[in-house]
Amino acid sequence: MTLPVVGHWINGNEFESKSGRIADVYDPALGEVTKHVALANQDETKLAIESAAAAWPAWRDLSQARRQEIIFRFRELLNERKPELAEIVTSEHGKVLSDALGEIARGQEVVEFACGMPHLLKGFYTENASTGVDVYSTRQALGVVGVISPFNFPAMVPMWFFPIAIAAGNCVVLKPSEKDPSAAIWMAKLWKQAGLPDGVFTVLNGDKEAVDGLLTHPEIQAISFVGSTPIAQYVYETGSKHGKRVQALGGAKNHMLVLPDADLDLVADSAINAGFGSAGERCMAISVVVAVEPVADRLIPKIVERMSKLRTGDGRRGCDMGPLVTKAHRDKVASYIDVAAADGAEVLVDGRTQEFDGDSKGFWLGPTLLDRVPVTSKVYTEEIFGPVLSIVRVDSYDDGVNLINSGAFGNGTAIFTNDGGAARRFQNEIQVGMVGINVPIPVPVAYYSFGGWKNSLFGDTKAHGVEGVHFFTRGKAITSRWLDPSHGGINLGFPQN
Ligand code: NAD
Repeated sequence: MTLPVVGHWINGNEFESKSGRIADVYDPALGEVTKHVALANQDETKLAIESAAAAWPAWRDLSQARRQEIIFRFRELLNERKPELAEIVTSEHGKVLSDALGEIARGQEVVEFACGMPHLLKGFYTENASTGVDVYSTRQALGVVGVISPFNFPAMVPMWFFPIAIAAGNCVVLKPSEKDPSAAIWMAKLWKQAGLPDGVFTVLNGDKEAVDGLLTHPEIQAISFVGSTPIAQYVYETGSKHGKRVQALGGAKNHMLVLPDADLDLVADSAINAGFGSAGERCMAISVVVAVEPVADRLIPKIVERMSKLRTGDGRRGCDMGPLVTKAHRDKVASYIDVAAADGAEVLVDGRTQEFDGDSKGFWLGPTLLDRVPVTSKVYTEEIFGPVLSIVRVDSYDDGVNLINSGAFGNGTAIFTNDGGAARRFQNEIQVGMVGINVPIPVPVAYYSFGGWKNSLFGDTKAHGVEGVHFFTRGKAITSRWLDPSHGGINLGFPQN
């Protein structure tokens, strides 16, 4: 049987790739290749960027009112039709349907934020900064910008960026993950239905070749990347070297610090939700519980009891947790369980031995719990990106904070306590970009900005919120004087009145 090939979306239309290169796209719950995705070559990458560049002047010059009409219409269509998009996400990523809907809802929040763009683009105006001289500021679109996204949020992560970029007057070329490319094409069609002019939103499917094309093409002004740390670093360095503005969000290893006075039922619920939601394939997943002694022995039975009730299976069957994205990734994640045992950790719950509700060929791995994980083990030091939750025991709050601060990543973290003073110290002392206080996954709402510290973000501007608006615009300050008879004559110094 010939499988469909997901192509590109160029100049407002589906574009059948002629590159001759494709990759497999799986339904992870079935363990089957259900379609292929085209991998763009250099000519297709160039064509995509140049058609976006051709669309830019008219889009930039369209009135804010007309642009906003289109963004609002996109929001309405997305809101009405999001169950369709959720099904696509589940069929290629594997996450359960309710979670797919959740990621779309978080993306939609950014679209709603972008609906306020005219207000966000307003500048300042100072009359008579010097006698007869006015100074004012404005923010202007950059041109064509590239967005390169990871497999784990095929709808939400692109929506962290493109609604803001487009509403601010840019054209966007989105390079989705080749593992789940269909959500991007679906969103492109929605834009067309919303009335977006052709070329303003482009989808270029591909791999390193397409990414390198975006990083080096002179028409690309800025790159928003989200993915693993080594690739984020590469994208940041290469894009910057080619004169582009780059924000590159990388990997993570998120800790939850549990103080002995915490509400342990809340902690256990939170550890389960944040450790195993989306099968741990979230950059804000909690992968390490740092338990300040003597809390671990009281907490662990509560976590284990909740784990025993979780149903792993096909995301379309109302299960709690779906499969991993590919067999290779499933096997890599599972291999950490043997490493943990060899390094002296206790395997309290082994996800390899559990039942699942789905096709036997699916990429299954049940929730796994490891205790007394040595911090020298690569189970602790590396990002696993799967349903493996580690417990590390420490003797004090200070030991916990020092451990978290010594890590290479700084994406998210949380403290669980009923002590307001400890929580205040934590928010001040912790070297992490997003902090939860009795909240396990502190993803900021759309009008704040998302991004970590250290190896979790290269570049100094975060996603969405005001930082997102700044990233996709350039500020300009204008000093103006309309000549009148008292223009003041020649003066080589700076004006002083
Ligand atoms: P990945 O780094 O493999 O891929 C991300 C993007 O880079 C994809 O579009 C891919 O096609 C492209 N890419 C892959 N290899 C490349 C190469 N050699 N050269 C150029 N481009 C390349 O990441 P992934 O596996 O899709 O996603 C999971 C990772 O993303 C995890 O590390 C996770 O923590 C991270 N992530 C981070 C955030 C965040 O906000 N910090 C959010 C989501 C995911």
